[in-house]
Amino acid sequence: MPVARILFPLPLPEPFDYAVPDGLDVQEGSYVAAPLGKYERLGVVLELLPDSAGEGRKLKDVGGVYPTPPMTAAMREFVQWAARYTVSHPGHVLGMALRSRGGLEPSPTETVYHLTGESPPRVTEARTKLIEAAEQLGAQTASTLAEAAGVSSSVVKGLAEAGVLRARSMQTDLPFDVPSPNLPGATLTDEQSEAAEALKQAVSARGFSTFLIDGVTGSGKTEVYFEAIAESLRTDPEAQILVLLPEIALTQAILSRFEVRFGAKPAPWHSGLSDKQRRRTWREVAHGRARIVIGARSALFLPFHKLKLIIIDEEHDGSYKQEDGVTYHARDMAVMRAKLEGAIVVLASATPALETVVNAETGRYHRLQLSARPGASRLPDVDLVDLRRAPPERNHWLSPHLIHAMQETLAVGEQTLLFLNRRGYAPLVLCKSCGERLKTPGTENWLTEHRYTGRLVCHVTGYSIPKPKVCPHCRAADSLMGVGPGVERVAEEVRTLLPDARIEIFSSDTAQGGEATRGIVERMEQGEIDVLIGTQIVAKGHNFPNLTLVGVVDADSGMKGGDLRAGERTYQLLSQVAGRAGRAERPGRALVQTYAPDNPAMMALADNNRDGFLQIEREVRAELGLPPFGRLAAMILSAPSAQQVDEIALQIIQQAPNGEGVEVFGPAPAPIAVLRGRHRRRFLVKSPKNIDLSAYMAAWIARLRLPNAVRMSVDIDPYSFL
Ligand code: ADP
Repeated sequence: MPVARILFPLPLPEPFDYAVPDGLDVQEGSYVAAPLGKYERLGVVLELLPDSAGEGRKLKDVGGVYPTPPMTAAMREFVQWAARYTVSHPGHVLGMALRSRGGLEPSPTETVYHLTGESPPRVTEARTKLIEAAEQLGAQTASTLAEAAGVSSSVVKGLAEAGVLRARSMQTDLPFDVPSPNLPGATLTDEQSEAAEALKQAVSARGFSTFLIDGVTGSGKTEVYFEAIAESLRTDPEAQILVLLPEIALTQAILSRFEVRFGAKPAPWHSGLSDKQRRRTWREVAHGRARIVIGARSALFLPFHKLKLIIIDEEHDGSYKQEDGVTYHARDMAVMRAKLEGAIVVLASATPALETVVNAETGRYHRLQLSARPGASRLPDVDLVDLRRAPPERNHWLSPHLIHAMQETLAVGEQTLLFLNRRGYAPLVLCKSCGERLKTPGTENWLTEHRYTGRLVCHVTGYSIPKPKVCPHCRAADSLMGVGPGVERVAEEVRTLLPDARIEIFSSDTAQGGEATRGIVERMEQGEIDVLIGTQIVAKGHNFPNLTLVGVVDADSGMKGGDLRAGERTYQLLSQVAGRAGRAERPGRALVQTYAPDNPAMMALADNNRDGFLQIEREVRAELGLPPFGRLAAMILSAPSAQQVDEIALQIIQQAPNGEGVEVFGPAPAPIAVLRGRHRRRFLVKSPKNIDLSAYMAAWIARLRLPNAVRMSVDIDPYSFL
């Protein structure tokens, strides 16, 4: 009997061997059920070994095989590579590929009813309503029809008995419509055509290569990669295409754009899907039937049957970095996955990450440049407002300069967007009487005041309480005061300044769910809002034709702390926000309020000099040996008490292996020093580029014996510092 080496989606260090009984069609990559401990569990056959591998061993039998095409060799290799790279158990990574158990089974079925054309022997009002509903909706379940008609389900039954309706069984999860490559796209400009041609050639040539579409906001990057998708659909009838977007940018607008261009809805994958939607996408991807998948970072771990093209839009976006569980960066992982699959990968951004720019310059990535917006629209003028010279009034946040510009904009009937990346009313609540700063119990995280809901909320842990009437510390009454601005507070200021303006707030608090978001976006598009005050949720993907002024309320807020990418991130976010102005035919302008107008990121924004800014960033990082010129990893330890975690940290550092050029810094409090009652410490490890830092971290961990109360995790290429 051959031997199946099975990996389970569990935190186990290794796969286990099982015997394949006669008559069971087990292949490499098969999804199988096999006994493990007391239960039969789902696993994937990593490889099949010859009969001799089982000789003299008492192996348990594989229990059964799921009716899903085997996981491809490229995917199995990817799972194992990703585990090595991120210093995780392979089973953990496999778990990310198996996010829907329901997808392994065929679609469930349900009974639906359709009209036969017979007339009912007896006509009642209820029956007439139901027949009308069935005419409109087509084949549907009894409850759907009854609900639509506003009658009871027994009416459906009666009509079925009378032969007016006929029951049949139908799959609950329908396949996705097949996209068409041959619908017309935009008529491309010369520059766009050239970029599209390069991608189309690579797609037809097949084989791995990486491209960067480096183009200003609105230059048509999406139109260009649409051409690559069309070419892939056209030249390979089985090719599957994955489009990754930051979760926040996965809006109805972008989905509709795909639908218009390819005549079919793409298969979605993101955290907001229901179980049913999730299993449908998973199943259709695994069977190779979903041709275009559009999803957030975790879609990278879907078990595609034949993945030929990966697009990573807004490749610089911080949300591609997964911080919990297996920590990975979806962009970097995508390049590896494409390599294993022999696929093309296309990164697109107006403000590519320094890592990506360096890869483009060294020729590892092919760079395609789009320098202009098509048609008459042009990039906004960006001006810095030096708050040291012309500050807002006390306890106000808008400078006279910005207020004046808003008044002008309102007077000519155009729209303003104010950007402030802080939800709520005030980011800190302080007692005027005793000076106490309100925090989440057991942590150092400040509570944010939300006036809209009357609550104080921790944006790190989600902890929330109604705003207390008295100070919890000194019991003084009415002494609690919000300090600093959030979007709600800026809205309050705008309301007094521009009493006639129609003002709305756009943040994850006011736009919960697709419905509410669509509402705000539509009102903005149709000119029903004069001033929109938003968090970073507004930065992405929206196109408001009448928006001509963007005001950045606090450009410095992202620059605080010791994050190595703070300047880069600030530049990316603010230039993206500024790019919202003047997208259509009207010229736009952006006013950026800052106390640090000579910071390189601010100067580059004002001069529209991205490359100059990157040059400075690059020199600093090269000098310090930081990514992409060196490697970084973090090890995070946590324990219920600060004393325990400090003691362990000191032991652990003694056990760090020697590595040429490897430096270990710390222990220091982690970015979130206390989380869910656990105290956290962090080591940062830095090495030259040519060192396998994952292997170094794995060797270090192998030496450690940690008490049960202590938890440890590794973050390769960490993104949050402080
Ligand atoms: P980006 O992805 O670079 O931000 P988009 O592809 O979203 O740019 O293009 C911005 C807007 O310009 C979209 O509404 C798009 O349909 C339009 N557009 C881009 N290229 C063309 C073109 N060649 N002809 C007409 N409209 C275009």
